[in-house]
Amino acid sequence: MIASSSVKDYIRTIVDFPHEGIMFRDVTTLFADPRGFRMAIDQLLNPYAGAQIDKVVGLEARGFILGGAIAHQLSKGFVPIRKKGKLPAATIAEEYKLEYGEAVVEIHDDALAPGEKVLIVDDLLATGGTCEAGIKLCERLGAEVIGCAFIVDLPELGGRKRLEEMGMDVHTLCE
Ligand code: AMP
Repeated sequence: MIASSSVKDYIRTIVDFPHEGIMFRDVTTLFADPRGFRMAIDQLLNPYAGAQIDKVVGLEARGFILGGAIAHQLSKGFVPIRKKGKLPAATIAEEYKLEYGEAVVEIHDDALAPGEKVLIVDDLLATGGTCEAGIKLCERLGAEVIGCAFIVDLPELGGRKRLEEMGMDVHTLCE
């Protein structure tokens, strides 16, 4: 791939995936490029220089790739939030609305300690429903979400507004 100066240039768009009418923003091309991947991790972390972060929480599935790299960079632990039925130990769950139907995400009930400061990461912010459910899970365990960081924001879907209305700090790299 040609060297590029912007994270956005590494992201590929797949039209009509997984359904007709969806413009899927495919970050695998960003992850596959060593310069692009490092740029994304560095830029996701930029606003949190000096902030206390005890755990990095990643949303399934691309949030695991980003969250693992960020946790390693910070020398902190990583915690996954997964779709229902995937985590092996005792969990708590949150249900949220999708365009058609509902989804459930879970976290291990001992994954975060009360008072721990958490950064939530995922590849893309659309309606904000997934992240809102993730925030609720962290808060139910007594943790404090200090920020939510994404590579892509789809502003027309209102996710940023929704999370900011909850009092969240939202950081995104491109639209
Ligand atoms: P939402 O809960 O509506 O904010 O949706 C965010 C989740 O759905 C993230 O985990 C994204 O990876 C995924 N997602 C939603 N829309 C897209 C899209 N257009 N391209 C890629 N991923 C998407």
